[in-house]
Amino acid sequence: MIEEILANLYRIEIPLPKSPLKALNSYVIRNTERNLIIDTGWNQEECLRAMQAGLSGLGVDLGRTDFFITHLHADHFGLLSNLVTDTSKIYFNQPDAGRFRVGFRWDDFAHFARLNGYPESELQASLQSHPGFKFRPEENLVFHIMKEGESLTVGDYRFRCIETPGHTPGHMCLYEPSRKVFVAGDHILNDITPNIQLWSDDRNPLEEYFDSLDKVSKLEIELVLPGHRSLLRNCRERIQELKQHHQKRLDEIISILKKGEMDAFRVASEMSWDILCDSWDLFPVSQKWFATGEAIAHLKYLKEKGIIKTEMRGRRRVFSLNRNDSS
Ligand SMILES: [Zn+2]
Repeated sequence: MIEEILANLYRIEIPLPKSPLKALNSYVIRNTERNLIIDTGWNQEECLRAMQAGLSGLGVDLGRTDFFITHLHADHFGLLSNLVTDTSKIYFNQPDAGRFRVGFRWDDFAHFARLNGYPESELQASLQSHPGFKFRPEENLVFHIMKEGESLTVGDYRFRCIETPGHTPGHMCLYEPSRKVFVAGDHILNDITPNIQLWSDDRNPLEEYFDSLDKVSKLEIELVLPGHRSLLRNCRERIQELKQHHQKRLDEIISILKKGEMDAFRVASEMSWDILCDSWDLFPVSQKWFATGEAIAHLKYLKEKGIIKTEMRGRRRVFSLNRNDSS
């Protein structure tokens, strides 16, 4: 499906079969010299077919096309391997490019998951079904690194790069000040909330995410082009809703921990999730992975704020409320 959003700026909807995200919004800016494609879909047949149909409908020649990738998630850049040509530039951010070069960190993920109580019986299946593993691009991509404030000009559009860490460490958006248009990747979504997850000890992604939301809130934006689902116009209002959503999650975790100490997997199993499933046991393994990562990100935030603490129980890490907050 192709939709014209602004002059020479189009959205191609790329299906993501069996994913709760449903589809990815790939944005294409057509230009007489070089075109730009923002985000691509998975490295997978249905995505490729939809992209090829969209590009041929728009008459886009891949030999004259560059790419901007908002962040290191396979639904946003997996398909690149099938689209790049000898002349393509791939604009990307440094933190995510660094992670991409390390490859899919299977052992690190497994170690960190076990530490957080992830059951052995579900671990291999969760990693095997992980889209970052299943639908990743080939490893030989060469990136042109963009930094905060740098501009990217395509025809009449002059975009400014805005670093928005949180959803990934290097997530980057594009802002077009003269049209007040904001290409949001997965930083701001309208119908669903971006997943903020953590699978290492070296970050505090929810804190980063709150800071990035505040940063974007200061921009004059009239139209947000998100990575999934519908476009939105009320950017500041949506930012407030997203902040409230995470605050509610933090409050929910505090009340769960009032029952006593528990590991992150158990915390995730007690949280409420927006998924059509009768119980945690019936959750698809891939979704348990994202849910647990989301729980860990929120637990890390609470720990850094001094509201909860961690201790080891054998090889497992448990979380509990700091005494002053357990009233
Ligand atoms: Zn993403």
